[in-house]
Amino acid sequence: MTNSKYIYLDYAATTPMDPRVIEVVTKHFNETYGNASSLHTIGQIAHQVLEKSRETVALLINANNDDIYFTSSGTESDNLAIKGVALKNQDRGNHIITSAIEHHAVYNPCSNLEKKGFKVSFLPVDKFGIINLDDLEKAITDKTILISIMFANNEIGTIEPIKEIGEIAKKNDIIFHTDAVQAFGKVPIDVEVMNIDLLSASSHKLYGPKGVGMLYIRNQGNRKGWGKYIEPLLHGGGHEKKMRPSTENIPGIAGFAKACEIAKEEMVVEAEKLIKLRDKIINWAIENIEDTYLNGHPTKRLPNNLNLGFKYVEGESILLSLDMEGIGASTGSACSSTSLEASHVLLAIGLRPEEAHGSLRITLGKFTTEDEVNYFLEKLPPIIERLRKMSPLKKGVKYMFDDSDSAHNHH
Ligand code: PLP
Repeated sequence: MTNSKYIYLDYAATTPMDPRVIEVVTKHFNETYGNASSLHTIGQIAHQVLEKSRETVALLINANNDDIYFTSSGTESDNLAIKGVALKNQDRGNHIITSAIEHHAVYNPCSNLEKKGFKVSFLPVDKFGIINLDDLEKAITDKTILISIMFANNEIGTIEPIKEIGEIAKKNDIIFHTDAVQAFGKVPIDVEVMNIDLLSASSHKLYGPKGVGMLYIRNQGNRKGWGKYIEPLLHGGGHEKKMRPSTENIPGIAGFAKACEIAKEEMVVEAEKLIKLRDKIINWAIENIEDTYLNGHPTKRLPNNLNLGFKYVEGESILLSLDMEGIGASTGSACSSTSLEASHVLLAIGLRPEEAHGSLRITLGKFTTEDEVNYFLEKLPPIIERLRKMSPLKKGVKYMFDDSDSAHNHH
């Protein structure tokens, strides 16, 4: 199976680069080799590319240029936001609020801080994966320094009520971080309207190069009553205003900026196309393959994400069978052949472990065509049928699903 024939339906894991981005990255690899901190002409050319890129990235979320800090990834941005706020504000408090469905790049720094004496509230979510705003308000104490709730979930695509969370954070004068790695460039984001203080994004999820990310930090240094509220994790030179020292990756950053520029122009039209394809798959699969259900919210979800549960089969078996047909999908969970643990996200929306193992995440992107979707829909039913025939769950242990009061039965 050659690359060009392969049907890639795993855009949430990473995206291929947009050819227009590759052009920009290549150009800068060739031409812009200077160190942006050097005072000579070659350095200053790199510096200009860096600052122009900052401006372009800022525009996508209505931020001030000065509040964009380039990093190496979404994971790094999440760590900087969470550990950075925790370490800097220990005199104010030691309590962090997050959700039970965060990506490990948020979940694990929070658990790590717990081991170091911080208190973390992991808010539950409803059957669609949405946090409850009353729960959030009730969780706040006078020791709460940070609320970190993801913009959109990477497994089930659910979009959280970010503006409302921002209002609650602002009213209580608590720093609000959102991991927007999956949402950035896919749905409109406005850090002003949504009262977001910290926002993580990653270039390789929106057709940019891998190994480039950014953290938006509102008003670092001038925040009323807080001053500087993030402690850097790296210590070195003066790059990125000492927030993230190390020589900037100019070709990568310029490519990331190009990806943001394209997203700003094309996001709305692309979303319309993707929603149609997404809903076509959802509706067709539920109608034509029995015992199939949607995980996540039917409408408050990313335009490109769908997560389907198939009773009596394992997501990984479906994934491997699809791969043999030249289709790349995901189970959407961190659970892999090396771990038998079910996805914490699917468990949090109320699925039983055996149900959580039967999920398939399909994520579409700008290069996805209707023909590809049709091919996928042609190949999927026989795979499910074959796996069910072999399934011990279907034959012997069916009772596990029968008196189920789990989430999908209420959908
Ligand atoms: N946060 C979310 C929601 C993600 O989906 C991902 C990547 O899968 C990350 C963080 C980590 O981003 P990166 O791969 O750039 O480290």
